[in-house]
Formats: sequence, C-alpha cells, structure tokens
Amino acid sequence: MKAILPGATVGIIGGGQLGRMFCMAARRMGYRTVVWTGGLEAPAAALADEVVDGPFDSSDARDAFVGVAEVATVEFENIPRSTLVGVAERIPLHPSADAVATCQHREREKRFLEKEGIPCAEFRVVDSAAALAAAIGDLGTPAVLKTAAFGYDGKGQRKLEGGEDPEAVWREFDADRAVLEAFVPFERELSVMVVRGADGSTVSYDPAENRHRHHILDVSIVPARVGPEVASKARGLAASVAEALDYRGILGVEFFQLEGGRLLVNEIAPRPHNSGHHTLDACATSQFEQQLRAVCGLGLGSSRLLSPVVMLNLLGDMWRGETAAPDWAAAFADRSSYLHLYGKERAPGRRKMGHLNVLGGDAEECLERAERLKQAWLEAAG
Ligand code: AMP
Repeated sequence: MKAILPGATVGIIGGGQLGRMFCMAARRMGYRTVVWTGGLEAPAAALADEVVDGPFDSSDARDAFVGVAEVATVEFENIPRSTLVGVAERIPLHPSADAVATCQHREREKRFLEKEGIPCAEFRVVDSAAALAAAIGDLGTPAVLKTAAFGYDGKGQRKLEGGEDPEAVWREFDADRAVLEAFVPFERELSVMVVRGADGSTVSYDPAENRHRHHILDVSIVPARVGPEVASKARGLAASVAEALDYRGILGVEFFQLEGGRLLVNEIAPRPHNSGHHTLDACATSQFEQQLRAVCGLGLGSSRLLSPVVMLNLLGDMWRGETAAPDWAAAFADRSSYLHLYGKERAPGRRKMGHLNVLGGDAEECLERAERLKQAWLEAAG
C-alpha cells in the first residue's frame, strides 16, 4: 500500500480538541486537513484547512467530506457506525468502523475483551430491573452500573453500595441496556497509548498514572509510579488489544492496577486520549503525530520519554464566571511548564479548556508544581 504523503488532505471525523491537536501535527508536517464537525461546536475548525459543518447522519455532509479527504480518521468514538461505514466505502478509514464500534459500546467492548482473554472487571449485561437484580445477586456490591452506549467521564454511571431497590435504580437509570461491573478495589489507574501502523507493527508509550477529580481526568503522572514489570505488562496488554482489534492508528487503553500488580482493562479509546497529552512536550513523537503517521501509512515515530512530566487538565472550574481565564503568569514563571489551550470561549462547569504539561527532574517534583498551580487557580476562581 502506498503511503499518503505531505500535501495530501487528511479528514478528521469530529471537531473537538483532539481533532484540533491532530490538525496542528498534520499542518506541521505539510498535510492539509478537513474536519467534519457533526454540527457540534468545533475547536478543531480554526486549525483545519476545510470544515464540513453538518451532522453525522447527513449524506450531503459525508459526500462533501469524502470529496475532499484522501484518508480519514476519528477523534471521538461516538459516531454512528453507519456513518463510519459510509465513509469507509469511499476512502480509507483508520481505525476501521468495526474497531470504533467495538470501543463505543461497553457491552461490545467487554465481550471483545472476554473473547480475547484480556483481563477486565467481572460484568453482567443488564436490560431490565429483573436482570439488574440477578446481576447484583451474582456480582454482589459494591458494583458500578454503566450505560452500554455513550458514556464518558463518569457520565451514565452509578455506584451501587448494596441495599438499593433494583426496580427504582433501573427506572431512574433511564437506559435500555447497561453493564453492571464488579467494583474494583484498585490501587491506581494507569493508561497506555499504543500506535499500530499499516504494517501491523506497534509502538507503545510509558504508562501514565491517572488521577481523577469529579470523575474527570485531573492529572496524568509519567512515568507512572509502578515497577518495570507492571509497566511492561501494561504495554504488552495494550499492544494485544491493538492486535486483536486489527487496529490501525493511535489507541488508548485504561487499566485498573490492583494490589500485587494485577491489571484489568477498564476502557479502550480508539483515538488520541487525554492521558496522552504529555506526549506533546515530553516524548520524541506526540500521540497526534503517531496517529497521522499510522493513518497515512508512514513509519511510526519513537515513543521515548524525554523527561518526567505531569499533565494537569485545565477544567472550567478554574475559570471565573465562565469567561475569566486563570492568571497564567504563574505557569509562565515556571520555565518547564507548557500551556495548551483549546480556544473555547466559555468554560461552563468542568469543561476541558486546556492542559498544562509540567516537566521536571522526577515525577514527584512535577506533581508538586502542578498541584500548587492547580490549587492557586481553583482558589482564585472561588
Ligand atoms: P469509566 O467511565 O468507565 O472510565 O469510569 C470512570 C471512573 O470511575 C474510573 O476511572 C474509575 O475511577 C471509576 N470506576 C469505573 N468503573 C469502576 C469499577 N468497576 N470499580 C471501581 N471504580 C470504577
């Protein structure tokens, strides 16, 4: 297969910040980009050469997109499968519609992991109050109920502590299908970015250790504070997931790490991932450049970690009154911190507005600096 070389136009389905950072990587390497926004607000549009601003179920929008793009990729997974299949009938799409469809639906994702023998939390599929009652009977509590489709950042999730009435829980949960997962008493959460190229070779990154705030990623600490065995097991599992999906592109695999080092896969993201943003400043090749290389059939880049780093997510609650940004002077006074903003005008709730990569001599020291900046900004925002 011939590589798609600089000068060509690469299409991105989805116009969020992941698409925006992909466009920057593509531009830097001399590619053109077209972003299909799905009709949603699109931080990527400002960086794209062309924009198709129509919904994902519009055949006119699809025709406009495939008329410009020579190859396509995705920047989020909640795109209807039929849209992906429609694109793939006209131009190459990486990752495939099948791979994205597996990752966009928790039931399919879990069944895939089970079939491939990749360890994950015990689960039951639930489609009624009676099924929920039976699942609670099987798995016990605590347990976590998760919608099968369209869940992210803890949305569409409810933890069951025991003693709840399954009828009431199911009624309030308001989903057709869900997955009940045994609660995992994890020691830490890890993730691995892995890229798989046109020739089936894979390159994985050092695992990130992820901490959440209100169910949203807060900081990623790299290297994760785990031993070499756990790190290499996580990288190996991530590569196995990519191979089992016959994947081409960049993939994020999230893990629960239990006491003793055992790893369970939590989620798979068929795209760049928030916990891979440190690669922009702290790795030889960013996750976005790797996505471009894989999608265009180029050789993959080195994933070498150049420096310990902590990625701090900049969420909307650091903004005052939704529009007043934090005082960045403190970040700029720190000579080894690198600010990335996504160009979003308003910061409602805990919207992802940007991130800060804090580089340093070791991860602990980076974490201290990142936490200090975060606390000051949160306090100033009230
Ligand atoms: P998810 O959207 O599935 O990634 O879940 C969001 C967060 O909820 C995870 O990062 C964990 O912190 C927590 N969580 C999800 N599932 C479980 C589980 N089965 N056991 C313990 N914590 C969980």
